[in-house]
Parts: sequence; structure tokens; C-alpha cells
Amino acid sequence: MSKFLAPDYESLVPYTPGEQLNYKVIKLNTNESPFPPSPKVKDAVSGELIDRLRLYSDPEVKQLRKAIADEFGLDAENVFVGNGSDDVLAFSIMGFCGRGGEMCCPDISYGFYPVYADIFGVNLEEIPLEDDFSIDAKKYCNKGKTVVIANPNAPTGLALSSDDVEMIIASNPDNVVIIDEAYMDFCKTSCVDLVRKYSNLLVCRTFSKSHSLAGMRVGYGLAQKELIDDLNKLKFSFNPYNMNSVAIAAASAAIADNDYYSKNTDKIIETREKTKAELAAIGFEGTDSKSNFLFEKHKTIPAETLYKELRKKGILVRYFSKPRISDYLRITVGSQEEMDALISALKEIIKELS
Ligand code: PMP
Repeated sequence: MSKFLAPDYESLVPYTPGEQLNYKVIKLNTNESPFPPSPKVKDAVSGELIDRLRLYSDPEVKQLRKAIADEFGLDAENVFVGNGSDDVLAFSIMGFCGRGGEMCCPDISYGFYPVYADIFGVNLEEIPLEDDFSIDAKKYCNKGKTVVIANPNAPTGLALSSDDVEMIIASNPDNVVIIDEAYMDFCKTSCVDLVRKYSNLLVCRTFSKSHSLAGMRVGYGLAQKELIDDLNKLKFSFNPYNMNSVAIAAASAAIADNDYYSKNTDKIIETREKTKAELAAIGFEGTDSKSNFLFEKHKTIPAETLYKELRKKGILVRYFSKPRISDYLRITVGSQEEMDALISALKEIIKELS
């Protein structure tokens, strides 16, 4: 740390992203899609667009907001876009909690929520998950503070029912409820339909998972116009050009090719269920994940050992050395071939260590 860093940030503990290695591995650690972006994305980011990069991007991001709105039967004024959904979450927590404000989220969830609370000076209440890692919706009702919930949750993969989500939104009319649906395409119980009904709902989504654009960095928030206007006010006070022209073109093309992505999503769901059964057959047990990852522990071999042994074999999964979840591995559902390689590697490791 230099002597110049403001004291406000001295104790900040940054988010730890999953490793991105520059050599060939089977990468099952950051929940990316095993499938390439749609061919329409490749067409959209070709030569002519590159020539136009001398110009600033559209700060209102009209083309992409309209394309997203059309997809959900909403209007462009209901859509905020950001540089990944991390950007949308950051603006939302900054804007709707405020310095010295209050927010709550599950104690085991996306690791960025506490980091945002910290950097924006928000008091965070972490509500413990139940013993089976589920979220008890009643514990998020009538909170009198901003509520942030990932649905499905990460890294557990467990989803709340639509009724429970609505109960939480309805019982907190004076606070924003942020439902982070980063993995919702693999679960299919989105609460986007409630946007027109509740002025305090903000649904956060991303192109990074089901839409194969993690490297492009595009996320979005869906809400009533007033909330979106607030987010734009913050964005225009901070970084009006947060979306670059290539990302705008790529995401607009992606959202228009739903056939391609829904087929991929269905394949990932099928592979998820098959892999879960294969893991059970070699001594794993885990949650009923509704995401593009599995959350699993082995009955005898510690997760940290498995993580290290898999790494030696060129397979990366995610291990969290945190209380309550240090027995578990979070394994991204990749292609069927990648999952076959994972299962054979695990069989070898289990044989060697037993
Ligand atoms: N929410 C959750 C629950 C996540 O797991 C992630 C990805 N790590 C994000 C949001 C952020 O994704 P992105 O910024 O790539 O849209």
C-alpha cells in the first residue's frame, strides 16, 4: 500500500475473482459457457464497427436497451446497462443504500456484495443460510433496508420459488429489493414479470453466463422508470461511456439470437443433471443446483485436496476456504466432453487416495 491511499480504503478486502490462466486447462471455475457466442455476434463486431471506434460510444446505449426491453416485453426506459452485472450491482448498492445506509444479503452468496457494501460505506447484515443452504424467505421480509439476493444463489445453486421472491418484494415497499438473476436462464423462474407490478424491484441480469459473453462485460438491470433514471443519474455522474461500442453491438446481436442460446442452455441443463448423477455414483453429494454449476462435496476426500489434485491434472474448479462451505467444490457445467474428463480425473484421484 502506498502512503497515498486514502484512509477510507485502507482496510478494503477486494473481491477475489476465479483464476484466468493463459495456458490450456479445462476451465470449470468461473461459470462461463462452454459454447462460443452466436455467429451473429461475430458478424456484428466485424470491420465497419472497428472503423467507427474513433467515435465515442452511445452514452444512452439506446440500441441495446431497446433490444433487451423487446426481449422482456418492457420499454427501453425500464433497462439500465452496465459493464458486466457487477457494474449494475455497484451502481445499485451505491445509489439505493447510500453511505451509512443499510443492506442485507445471505451470509453465503456472491462474494462481491460485502465488498460493495464496504467500499460504499454501507452497513451490511449477513443473514445466515439454513443448514441445508436454503434461503428462508421470511427472514428477508419487512427488513426496512435494501435487500440483495442472488436467485439462484451462488455458490449453492439453490433457487427461491417465485412466490417467496414476491413475498420479499411486497413486504419491503419502502426499500429496493435487488434480485440478481445472473444464473436464471438455467432455472427458468424469473421474477422479471413483477417489474411492472412493484416499484421497488430491480432485477439484475448478465450476458456472461447463458449468453457466452463473459469477456465482453455486459450486464443489465430491469426496473420501473424511476429506478432506472436514478441509476442513469449515477452513471452520468461517474462514467457516461461505461459501455463500449463493441460490447453494445455484440450484446444487441446476442439477445436477438435466442434460439441459439436457448438450445445451449438446454444442453447445459441436461449435462448438469447427468454430471450430478455421475458424481453421486462416485461418492459425492451436493445441492439441487438450478444454475450452470454444481456445488458438491465428497464423502471422504476433503474438497481442498480434490481441488489441488484436479488442478495438477489441468482441471480448474472453484474452492472456497470459508466456514460452512470449505467441504464443497463449485464446479461449472462445461461441455459433455469436459464433464467426461472431470469424472475420469476424479475417479483416478479417488482411486489413488483411497
Ligand atoms: N452475480 C452473480 C451471482 C455472479 O456469480 C456473477 C459472476 N461472477 C455476477 C453477478 C457478475 O457477473 P458479470 O459481472 O460477469 O455480469
